[in-house]
Amino acid sequence: MIRAVVVAVAAVAAFAAAPAVASAQLIAIDPGHGGSDPGAVGSGMQEKEIVLDVSTRFADLLRDDTADGRGGGQWSVIMTRVGDESVSLAARASFANSMGADRFLSIHANAFSDPSANGTETFSFSEGTTGAALRNLVQEEMIAAWGLRNRGNKTANFAVLRETAMPAELHELGFITNSGDAVKLASDGARQSAAEAHLRALQRHFGLAPYIPGPADEPDDPGEPEEPDQPERPDEPEQPEGPEDPDEPDPGDPEPEDPDSEDPEDPGDPGDPDAPGGNGDTTSGDSSGGATASGGCAVGAAVGGGHPALLMLLVAWAVRRRPGRR
Ligand SMILES: [Zn+2]
Repeated sequence: MIRAVVVAVAAVAAFAAAPAVASAQLIAIDPGHGGSDPGAVGSGMQEKEIVLDVSTRFADLLRDDTADGRGGGQWSVIMTRVGDESVSLAARASFANSMGADRFLSIHANAFSDPSANGTETFSFSEGTTGAALRNLVQEEMIAAWGLRNRGNKTANFAVLRETAMPAELHELGFITNSGDAVKLASDGARQSAAEAHLRALQRHFGLAPYIPGPADEPDDPGEPEEPDQPERPDEPEQPEGPEDPDEPDPGDPEPEDPDSEDPEDPGDPGDPDAPGGNGDTTSGDSSGGATASGGCAVGAAVGGGHPALLMLLVAWAVRRRPGRR
């Protein structure tokens, strides 16, 4: 396992001075993939772009919530990448650790060779932890927001879950390779609702009533009218959260994990939800390289196979407010 050296010290230091409110929680948002690693690809989209957009919206909401006293949430935000950069999994975790983040939320989209695979799932490293509690809320809020198939709350030995010192979860929004899920992934309104779902989950996690901040002090961008939370539901009603039934003959459930079987770093289905035993138990999937993939979207490729010279380039910056981003 590579111990990443934090290079972007200047940027980090600029952030570290931020925590003004003693009670503010420092939230690390981790948009999956980036740079040379597009993540999952399908339906004319790339995972890295989708998850960066959702993550940025989420970050904006956290700042808006902080500025809007009606909600009660006080957050500071860091992101492991704010643009189309390659960042290793180790660097993502070590950055959050070095910053002393209170929570770590990683956002991904899934893929599988069988386009019928679909649905939403969320991972923590293990059960019975604070990270698992956060995971459950993210999954619950995302199911409510998007109405996709509930693939459940799972555990997996993913690097960003294993190596982060704070409670962490990793969310798979949906399958980029599934036409129904792709409608959500492509939609500005759905992306915003996903960001709001993450905010609500975090608020509930910290004992706050869910609250979506109103218009901030800045003028809103006139474009991009927001869709209602659930404009359409291409899929069938979802099962309640919890482990999936491995016997379920749902055609939309064909081993969606690990589409990138050619990934040499990938230990193989650490979070395979459909494997015998189900529930994506933490397995021996820990690759020595620490490049354990995230569920189905080949995170491992970003590290192990990618550009070793870039792995040390920590490009995690504090996210600046971006008026009109939404
Ligand atoms: Zn991914």
